[in-house]
Amino acid sequence: MRTPVIAGNWKMHNTVEESLALVRGLKALVAGAAGVEIIVAPVFTALHAVAAEITGSNIALSSQNVFWEEKGAFTGEIAPGMLKDVGCTHAIIGHSERRQYFGETDETVNRRVKAALAAGLTPIMCVGETLEEREAGNTLAVVSRQVKGGLSGLGSAEIDKLIIAYEPVWAIGTGKTATPEQAEEVHADIRRLVNDIAGQDTAAGIRILYGGSVKPDNVDVLMSQADIDGALVGGAALKADSFARIVNFETVE
Ligand code: PEP
Repeated sequence: MRTPVIAGNWKMHNTVEESLALVRGLKALVAGAAGVEIIVAPVFTALHAVAAEITGSNIALSSQNVFWEEKGAFTGEIAPGMLKDVGCTHAIIGHSERRQYFGETDETVNRRVKAALAAGLTPIMCVGETLEEREAGNTLAVVSRQVKGGLSGLGSAEIDKLIIAYEPVWAIGTGKTATPEQAEEVHADIRRLVNDIAGQDTAAGIRILYGGSVKPDNVDVLMSQADIDGALVGGAALKADSFARIVNFETVE
């Protein structure tokens, strides 16, 4: 019922030429993948070139961030319409690295989500707790605050268009993956929360991705969980063969 999404966040890696080499390799390896949405998120400087390379393929393009204003005196920022202009269909918003290093808050996430939606971009809105928050027993409270904050003021028709990524901060880039049970527990809670906010149909349809050290050897079991609808992949997205194996995940009993 929910088409799985496998998204690769390339973070601050790769020149234009390196990005093109990576996406060319990937394109060949996933050409036959059906029933899955494939997204790559290169650095801003490579978006235009990668967009041309994936035209006509089954790979879609995302930015790693987006500003909320359309234009003006905002040095260093990129507007939603500018991302559309270079071929983006998606925008990652509120990644934990943005929250941790660049002062991203639930309020700024909400502004970016609204602006992305208004421009016709699909937000991939990231949420997730730190290790201290998990150890203090606050995982659900934190994730719930982030989801409510990020979705504030949106109606179900808008939330329908969104993708949520649950990324426990302690699992990102650390090699520590949440167990399938730990991930599923939070995913099910996020879906319940969306049900409370936007109703049953939106909750049943929204894709909730897991992120945090997803690799070829753990993707199958993660994707076999009832409420895990895809993966947001960092490190393992930087090699065409490992990302292609994740795209071609197989669910297990
Ligand atoms: C990420 O960047 O969103 C991520 C989950 O990274 P990694 O897969 O390297 O943990």
